[in-house]
Amino acid sequence: MGSLALINGTIYTSFNPLKKTNNLLIYNGYFKIISNSNEILDFAKREKIEIIDLKNKFAIPGFIDAHMHLDELGEFIKGINLKETTSIKNFCYYISKEKDKFKTWIFGHGWDQEKFIEKRWPNHFDVDNCSSNKPLFLSRIDLHSALINQNAINILISINKKLYGVERFPDGSPTGIIKEDAFEEIRKIFRETRSIEEQKEILELAQNELLANGVTSIGFMSVDEKTLNALLELRSENKLKIRVSAYLRPEIMEMSRQVRNDDLLSIKGIKLFADGSFGSRTALLSYPYEDDPTNKGYEAMSKGDLLENCMKAKELNLKTAIHAIGDKGIDNVIWVYERCGKKNRIEHASLIREDQFSKIAKVDPFVVVQPHFIISDYWIINRVGKERIKWVYPFKTLANYGINIAFSTDSPVEPIDPFLTITSAVNRGKDQELELYRYTKHESLDVLEAYDAYTNKSSLAIDRDDIGKIEIGEKGDLVILDKDPIENYQSNKVLITIINGDIVYKNPDQNLIF
Ligand code: ZN
Repeated sequence: MGSLALINGTIYTSFNPLKKTNNLLIYNGYFKIISNSNEILDFAKREKIEIIDLKNKFAIPGFIDAHMHLDELGEFIKGINLKETTSIKNFCYYISKEKDKFKTWIFGHGWDQEKFIEKRWPNHFDVDNCSSNKPLFLSRIDLHSALINQNAINILISINKKLYGVERFPDGSPTGIIKEDAFEEIRKIFRETRSIEEQKEILELAQNELLANGVTSIGFMSVDEKTLNALLELRSENKLKIRVSAYLRPEIMEMSRQVRNDDLLSIKGIKLFADGSFGSRTALLSYPYEDDPTNKGYEAMSKGDLLENCMKAKELNLKTAIHAIGDKGIDNVIWVYERCGKKNRIEHASLIREDQFSKIAKVDPFVVVQPHFIISDYWIINRVGKERIKWVYPFKTLANYGINIAFSTDSPVEPIDPFLTITSAVNRGKDQELELYRYTKHESLDVLEAYDAYTNKSSLAIDRDDIGKIEIGEKGDLVILDKDPIENYQSNKVLITIINGDIVYKNPDQNLIF
């Protein structure tokens, strides 16, 4: 809990309505004085508080990423990065370069078959030769599918469970592509090989990356038992710097009884799945996929089971966050919240039919969206066709219905740089000349709405009322930026990140720091 005075800057204290000041004082972790007068300087000198002269730089409330995966972001940083891969042929190049650093499983993330010049999904034959001595797990960009090698397929066969999502060749043998249930099962097995110390290291890697990007609080989704224990250890060792609202996997929701929430780490809810993703063609639709006319997607959990979990969570004083990407998945979530109550969360909500907005408004949830999906899912029109494309990522319509939308990245699915997220919401792929932009440009948010969604609205989505804006009595979280964030929303530099009045990140570029 630190104290700091910031003077001579442009400090945006709120985006809706837009308010600013030149000076402010954080005292013992909280904003204490917000004023343009000299009283801050006098107070700071009297109490011997560090003074930062902003020299006309800018500050805003810290970014709040309402839906991300700290463990998977850390895994991504540590593993093989396949986000730039445009050919299946390159897989072995990347694997061979890095495979020796992995003790048990070789893991990596980020490929997308839509980008491959081969125009097909990869299979285990593409990677067996370069990864033969260890099991291999390479998750697809959406974290709903993975490519595994023969070694890992043998493990899958040995557990002898009937699982949804094992893709097969015509002869019945697995191709190495696993989706949904099979994906979850194999990931669980590979994570069990990791020690709690390794898990802590992974979480810290991810934390540092977030702080360097000006993210001060997160909604950490789908936390498992090992990860929760790792978080608790980091917390007790004073190594947790970022503020975490945790959403547990439903099977461990009872653990919330044993955890004493505090300012930096609190269990706020559970995370459930209604369906899959567009990339893997598992999002649940009311009409078939345009590019797969026999397929309407995958129901990850029935309405009844979703409701049962939501009611159990409610008894434990936890909120429910349900992943729903397709319109039929959203129907199921609306049905659940009509029975389980208001102020729960819908994650993603990518395809919303016109008749659904008023029903969503009635159950008054937080709709937690990922604007950068617009850029990554540039092929979305192939999945949904010209009729439904106008329903995709309808941020402005949601806002017009008075529905709370909060921003997030689903990292490592999307990059954590907040300015990429803001730009996606405002420009909607205009610069990339995306088809989605042509059909849905009326769904663009204005810059202030976008910043508000990434600060104040996100704070409410992660169930905090003491962060998200710079106000007297709120937690002293903010980010110092190189340029005016409103004019320069497309790119900017984070200079300093402050949480509870403590400096938790300083840009290493000495020329930038004043
Ligand atoms: Zn997610």
